[in-house]
Amino acid sequence: MKTFLSIGEVMVELSQAGGGDQWRLGFAGDTLNTAWYARACLPEDWQVEYLTRLGNDPFSPRILQFLQDSRIGTRHIAQDASRAVGLYAIELQDGERSFAYWRGQSAARLLADDPALLDRAFEGADMVYLSGITLAILSDAGREALISRLITARRAGRRTAFDPNLRPRLWESADAMRHWLTRAAKGAEFLLPSFEDEAEWFDDASLSACAERWRAAGAAEVVVKNGGGPIGLLDASGYRAFPVEHVTPVDTTGAGDSFNGGYLAARLGGATAESALHRAHEIASRVVASPGALVAVSKG
Ligand code: ADP
Repeated sequence: MKTFLSIGEVMVELSQAGGGDQWRLGFAGDTLNTAWYARACLPEDWQVEYLTRLGNDPFSPRILQFLQDSRIGTRHIAQDASRAVGLYAIELQDGERSFAYWRGQSAARLLADDPALLDRAFEGADMVYLSGITLAILSDAGREALISRLITARRAGRRTAFDPNLRPRLWESADAMRHWLTRAAKGAEFLLPSFEDEAEWFDDASLSACAERWRAAGAAEVVVKNGGGPIGLLDASGYRAFPVEHVTPVDTTGAGDSFNGGYLAARLGGATAESALHRAHEIASRVVASPGALVAVSKG
């Protein structure tokens, strides 16, 4: 059995259900979404594990149950006696979604605080995946604890992947964000950025400039996601771009996360980068055309 390990934060999501004070409860998080799609797409000789820290609150057991129901392993999930899981609410105002967050003191902020737990999880993993959001919520020591293990895992021949998933508001400064994301690229075989945000925060003039920057930072294979635009791919064979058919979006939540899960599952299953990219886009374009982040996919 091989293991795909995804590391990050799951939050409670409240979304307005009808009018007034009715709210629907869900669970969400970028690395959770990617784990979910990896589980849907990977062959059955792969186990998917999620590493996070949950809290001492009524929702944490329900998150564990949700993961188990989704066939995602929970053995690397710690429980914090004095904290609770983070929460956010989505409200629809004049057709626009607005978000409010309560995550500053979430249990997941301490997910990298137990070195023995991290060592066990990394040692048992054939693929390790994390994102810029995972790093953003941690202390500097936590960031370094994850990145140094990612670098070691990659040097030891394990597969590793990173999505910078830029969220400037989660970081103490734009410079800190750029510094830590660039450092994480040293540990990433696969680097899966999204062009719109990268162009804004790293000043990339083109998809290929974005891909080249991440290669220079240490990644081996860069796939630049790009909304409904052409997708960039840079690996040992050089740079090429793949045009895609634009879909009118219904709900773009989870598009990039589903792309990552589909791409990595295909690559781990032996697909070429080109065919993994097409499979990933096929999944992501279906996610864009459906409400919600988690949309059923058939094994490819
Ligand atoms: P993120 O969700 O990280 O912001 P993007 O918006 O770049 O990522 O979208 C990720 C991927 O989802 C794209 O590379 C593409 O494959 C697919 N996608 C997103 N929006 C569309 C669209 N309007 N039409 C077709 N595919 C899309």
